[in-house]
This record gives sequence, structure tokens and C-alpha cells, in this order.
Amino acid sequence: MSNLSPTTTAEPCAPEPARPTLQMIPGRLTDLGGLAIRRLLPRTGRRLVGPWCFFDSYGPLSFAAGKPMDVAPHPHIGLQTVSWLLEGEVVHHDSLGLAGTAVPGVLNLMTAGRGIAHAEETPAQNAGRLRGVQLWVALPEASRAEAPAFASHRDLPRVELDGGAATLLLGCLAGARSPARAFSPVVGADVVGAAGRRLALPLDPDFEHAVVPLAGETLLEGQPLAVDTLYYLGCGRREFVLESGSRPLRALLLGGAPFGETILMWWNFVARTTEEIVAAREDWQSGRRFGDVRAYAGARTPAPPFLARPVPR
Ligand code: MN
Repeated sequence: MSNLSPTTTAEPCAPEPARPTLQMIPGRLTDLGGLAIRRLLPRTGRRLVGPWCFFDSYGPLSFAAGKPMDVAPHPHIGLQTVSWLLEGEVVHHDSLGLAGTAVPGVLNLMTAGRGIAHAEETPAQNAGRLRGVQLWVALPEASRAEAPAFASHRDLPRVELDGGAATLLLGCLAGARSPARAFSPVVGADVVGAAGRRLALPLDPDFEHAVVPLAGETLLEGQPLAVDTLYYLGCGRREFVLESGSRPLRALLLGGAPFGETILMWWNFVARTTEEIVAAREDWQSGRRFGDVRAYAGARTPAPPFLARPVPR
């Protein structure tokens, strides 16, 4: 989806050295015409987890009519979008002419590279429910001029863990590897833990990680963790143990090698300089570079105003 609460200036997001830690980052709530959205990344105090640079969680919502998700065509550069649903459906159409419907268990992964435009909508045939997450992965310098691409992944690996199981969205966990294309060392997994059990997550100690409870009852050393809240774990852990209460837990595990590059985020762009952002914005406004999303019936999203300020180093 689109960044629905852009600032007028760009946000520098610098990776920091990290050790094992536990930092709780509450989400910031916004509302899109009745659809509640919690922004978990970037937040004050936590900009990146490995290459993960953006995280919106939305719903749950029940609806009888209409389209709770209707994000008109908008551009992206320098990132991958990861669309993952817990309930309902979201249809993607892009300027490459590709389409894909994300439903629970089916990952939509779009690589923006040097530039793509897409739209995301609730389809006419729907379950009347919507609950999902949208994340962005920053592309490293060596890959951010790649050609744009889109893929729906229907056969993601599921691995059994001590006390539960994980579905691999991106990267590797417990010997399984996601078929989705990644450009830097990364992990993203949807983990479930059986009620009343301890769930041991095997981690790469060279990665930094975060856990976001999505549903059910997730505890850490007997204390309940809040849903839609990012718990940053730092680097240097080989394992992280969560417990479920009387209900099973469901959480996202995110991680990756500390990114090592300072990115500059504005609206739907991940860049390095304000000049790049200005050029991408002008290209979108004047109909260059990104192409048209022909499958979307309606006007595209105009770029918000951008104030190019000196970027603090
Ligand atoms: Mn988008």
C-alpha cells in the first residue's frame, strides 16, 4: 500500500550498532476511512530492523459492502513491498501489467528497484473481513537500480519448531528457505505457538531481530506482550523463547544483518539523497519512469508536497 501519512520532509534512517536488548516500540495509530492502521516502522527510537524499514498493520475489520482497501496507483523506488494477509483479500495491479491476489498464505512481493507503480484494492468477491500487514524491505546500494518485478508466492515453506511452526516469507529459518527473492541477508516469518507451550525461535546471532505479536496470547517470561507492538531484540541471540497462554500465539519474526547504509525515506520512496527523491517525485508527477497501472479504474495518487531540507549526517 501507500504511505498514507507522509511527512513533508524526508526521514533519514541510520542503522545503529546493536547487542541483545529488549526495546518495546508501540505502534502509532491512524485511521483510513474506518480501517485502523498501526505504524510500527519507522518509529522514533527504531528506524530499521536489518533491511526492514516500514511496517503497517491493519484491521481486523468486518464489512458488508464497499472496499476498505482502495489504494490508487502510486510509485515506489528502492524497496520491496511485502503484503501478507491474516484475513481477507487484497488485489495488486502494477505498471508492468502484472496482477496478484494476496490471501492468507499467499505472499505478494513487489520489487520496486528503479521504479514501479501499483494499486491495491479489496476485490469485489471478498470475505467481508480484512486483517493484514504491509512491510517494506530496503534494497542495498548494489541492487536498488534493479528492474522492477512482482511475484505471488503460494507455496511458502512451513517448518516445525519446538512448540510451534513458522511460515517463511523471506530468507531462512531452521533450515528452510523462502523462494521469495531477497537482496540482502534477511528473515521474515509468520510464527505460531500452540496454547500453553513455549515456542523456541532459532535466530542467527549475526542478525538483529524483532518480534511483533499479531494475534492470540503471547507472553515473555510470564508477562503478556501487546499485539501490534514491535519488540526489538538487538543482535547476538541464538534463540528467543516466547510462551503462549490459554490461546495459541501468532507473531511475525523479522530480522536481518544490520543494514549498514543510511537510507532516506519519503512517501513511498527509499532513497539516499534528497535529489533522488525530488527526481522520483517529478517523474511521477509528469508521468515519466513509473508507467501506468492500466488495470485500475480511477485516478492515480498525486505526490504530496516535498520540502528538500539539508539531511543531518
Ligand atoms: Mn505501495
